[in-house]
Amino acid sequence: MSPLADAPLSAPRTLDVVVVGAGVSGLYSVFRAKKRGWSVRAFEAGQSVGGAWYWNRYPGCRVDIEGFEFSYSFSDELQQHWTWSERYPGQPEVERYLNHVCERFDLRPHISFGTRIEAVHFDEADRTWVVRTDRGESVRARTVILCTGIYSVANRPHFEGLDQFEGRKLYSSNWPKEPVDFAGQRVGLIGTGASGVQLTPILAQQAQHLSVFQRTAVYTVPLRNRPADEQRTREIKADYTVTREAQRQSPTGFTHLHSHPAPPVTQSALALSDEERRRVYEDRWNSGGLCFYYTFTDLLTDPDANRTLEEFFKEKIRARVSNPRIAELLTPRAEPVLTKRLAGDTGYCETMERPNVELVDLKAEPIRHFTPKGLVVGDREVPLDTIVFATGFDFGTGAFSRMDIRGRGGRRLADDWTQGVRTFLGMMTHGYPNLFWVAGPSCPFYNPMLNAQYQVAQVERFLDGREDPDGLVEPTEKAVAEWTSLHNSIADATLFMKGDNYFVGANVKGKNREIPMFLGGFPMYSEHCDAAARDRSCFVTKEHERESAAAEGRAG
Ligand SMILES: Cc1cc2nc3c(=O)[nH]c(=O)nc-3n(C[C@H](O)[C@H](O)[C@H](O)COP(=O)(O)OP(=O)(O)OC[C@H]3O[C@@H](n4cnc5c(N)ncnc54)[C@H](O)[C@@H]3O)c2cc1C
Repeated sequence: MSPLADAPLSAPRTLDVVVVGAGVSGLYSVFRAKKRGWSVRAFEAGQSVGGAWYWNRYPGCRVDIEGFEFSYSFSDELQQHWTWSERYPGQPEVERYLNHVCERFDLRPHISFGTRIEAVHFDEADRTWVVRTDRGESVRARTVILCTGIYSVANRPHFEGLDQFEGRKLYSSNWPKEPVDFAGQRVGLIGTGASGVQLTPILAQQAQHLSVFQRTAVYTVPLRNRPADEQRTREIKADYTVTREAQRQSPTGFTHLHSHPAPPVTQSALALSDEERRRVYEDRWNSGGLCFYYTFTDLLTDPDANRTLEEFFKEKIRARVSNPRIAELLTPRAEPVLTKRLAGDTGYCETMERPNVELVDLKAEPIRHFTPKGLVVGDREVPLDTIVFATGFDFGTGAFSRMDIRGRGGRRLADDWTQGVRTFLGMMTHGYPNLFWVAGPSCPFYNPMLNAQYQVAQVERFLDGREDPDGLVEPTEKAVAEWTSLHNSIADATLFMKGDNYFVGANVKGKNREIPMFLGGFPMYSEHCDAAARDRSCFVTKEHERESAAAEGRAG
């Protein structure tokens, strides 16, 4: 048991590090702080570890990156010990894995569960952070690492009359721990993003009747999940470095192990003849999963390249669904392919043709309001016993905007970001010294396991590089401006900005239209991190600090 485990939260002692969140990123942050001999405490709103894999326990929830890739690489003993039972592990198995990591490295004693952080304020006089919990307790820390997730705050749109609905209400992002029985029930599902796509076939099998209320169609690809192949497991474990190296070369940190080892992606979709390109797409389709993100260099930047995949997907929908009306409804209309997150499916399209399933087109029959017995769409009432919401997330910035984060001089992050997210390397910003975040706003579009390891290593590197070990790490205003401009110019050059997807905040009323995610690829991202560590002119020096204190004094 750590000596800190039973220390009162309001202990006068200043901790080296406070971590917020105990998902993939928070666990690794605690692991490293502990390894470094730093005093650390993590706070987690949930009752246990896992983050997204703790909260989203709805039936059908599973990763759509292969288990071998969706796992930490920092410990070969861990890699060798853990064996995934399926190609794409389900939520219970991912949750078990993260619990295993927590026990194996003895992290639990450092985490306070069921505790939400409400405020994070910089105390300029003391040069420490004061972190306040929802229990009214406070701790001080020299460094704070926010690991609060980019998919951790549910988007819950307002529905008229919902409070009068007498049936059961379920949320995919906060699913009950005990099994839910749908037998004999008339179930409605609102939301057809990745979670809705996973839920649909299972609800259809279990319920008497399922109504899927669709506002926007989504491209789905067959996941082709299956029990893990023992031979392949042996091969990967025999030399895991091959898999990890292929991931490292990939812009997104996953290759989908489509072939092992996966060759790097170097070609434009337009460089091939129609026939050759089709062979590549068919091959990917038959392999299963999200490997389309790892196919050609320009699918997300060149509309003509993107259209080649769009045509292929549209053809596949028509081939999978015999009813032309349903096929038409399942075909996305406006979004460039891949800009709305591709969803890995297990019989989603086919399920829509089951006799006990109705796909309701909300464009033709908009939702009006709930009644005590069901949901009125268009001019009819759909009777329901249970309504399931899979309405997505306040992506990227949701968790930050729900905390009161204040930096130097009491400035508020919420005010500093009214015109948009402004960061340096998607992990810190000017005015908030020694406040870092991992997998938070403007983090790289990258495998979350590897991202946690990489970004935490950068936090250590920047802290270790200080001239004075008690000094603070804070990017200059100029460094933030330059990084933000690079970040946004890359985002603007992609097709993401052409669509109305959750990446650009289109699902949340009143949100800035921006992509809080770095899309330049991991190799470019790591070059910038290396440059920052080498040339520390991007960080505020003691000299800067004195000058700005003097300027503030003059202004005051
Ligand atoms: C349904 C679903 C499926 C997904 N599937 C995939 C997939 O297939 N592949 C993939 O790469 N990624 C997937 N993701 C993304 C997922 O977010 C990552 O896989 C990964 O779990 C992120 O880990 P994290 O630690 O950064 O954040 P999270 O797992 O979101 O953890 C953040 C934690 O911080 C806590 N927290 C937030 N604010 C506070 C606060 N103020 N005080 C205290 N605690 C707080 C939350 O309770 C949460 O437990 C999926 C996400 C969801 C929701």
